[in-house]
Amino acid sequence: MSVPFTRTLRFKVRPESYAWLNAAAIEVNGVFNYCNQISLATATRTDRKRKWLSGYDLCNLTAVATEYLQRIGADTIQRICVEYAQKRVAARRLKLRWRVSRGARRSLGWIPFKAASLKRKGTALRFCGKTFRVFERERLEGVSWKQGCFAQDAVGDWWLCLPVEESIEQTAAPKESVGVDLGLKDAAVTSDGERLEALRFYRDAQHRIGALQRRRHVRQAKRVHRRIRRRRQDACHKFSRKIINTYQKIVVGDVSSLKLAKTRMAKSVLDSGWGMLKRFLQYKGECAGRTVQVVSERNTSRGCSSCGALSGPSGLRQLAVRRWECAHCGESHDRDVNAARNILTAGSRCGTSVSGNEPLACRACSEPDISSARRRTLGGR
Ligand SMILES: [Zn+2]
Repeated sequence: MSVPFTRTLRFKVRPESYAWLNAAAIEVNGVFNYCNQISLATATRTDRKRKWLSGYDLCNLTAVATEYLQRIGADTIQRICVEYAQKRVAARRLKLRWRVSRGARRSLGWIPFKAASLKRKGTALRFCGKTFRVFERERLEGVSWKQGCFAQDAVGDWWLCLPVEESIEQTAAPKESVGVDLGLKDAAVTSDGERLEALRFYRDAQHRIGALQRRRHVRQAKRVHRRIRRRRQDACHKFSRKIINTYQKIVVGDVSSLKLAKTRMAKSVLDSGWGMLKRFLQYKGECAGRTVQVVSERNTSRGCSSCGALSGPSGLRQLAVRRWECAHCGESHDRDVNAARNILTAGSRCGTSVSGNEPLACRACSEPDISSARRRTLGGR
């Protein structure tokens, strides 16, 4: 079975166009800020003309703006109006943050456009009367894009983002199910014992970043940041791809990186990229036709995955215990693999019946009263 799936292709724009894009981005900011101002003013009127402006209203109000703008055209202005209205509804605010064109708090450049206004021209692209060249243009061949945008990153480089529709062939995975435990010692461990080593990219580079910032080499420091982000992304992409290709059902713990980011472990938590890994698993699973399930992490590192007794290490103090032996049944466990197995069990308990790859023993960890029928589907004990 094949399913349609939208993927966004990113192309780095050749630097000769940066000056034009920077100037166009200032015009975009102007239109955006106009929308912001007029929407606020209309929504806070005290007479009967008070109104919550929609994207359509804003398009009408900005219809004459093309005469005053040199670079961007009517399609970009309409896209800005529509996007502004959507963002404002999503944020539930009278006013959004202004887009800043200059200074240290400058907004990163953004130029949206409609699908028809970006055209091919030989090996290059044509937009608003200007010719653009991108790196890796061979990836453009044979694709038909939808509405996209030019976007700037923190380093100042411009990227062309083009959503394209693809159809993906869904096939069954060779193995049935897996539990994934997200941690700090290893970023992720599966119930089959596979590990994604802790991503310490930021930790490893922070001395260099600090030194660069002290020397006021801001751009250089931002480059290092970008490199760290890309390395983390790469590792997460590879690991999630491997899991999605191998397993039909993936169970992940509900560990919240946002909550833990407020504790002393914040730097390690953010460096490990849990959020990113979960997001990748989710969307890759979706388009490959896999089940991705999130379950509560409670007691998963304490419970013994063989007998279910809560005899394992618990609390922050025993975070250092990597291997332990169950006092109840004598089984020796690796902390993370055991937790991943418990997560897998929790997933199969509350989902449809799934028979695991590994012998699923007594599943009494936190729910002692499994019915015998349930137990049979879980592994026949
Ligand atoms: Zn045990």
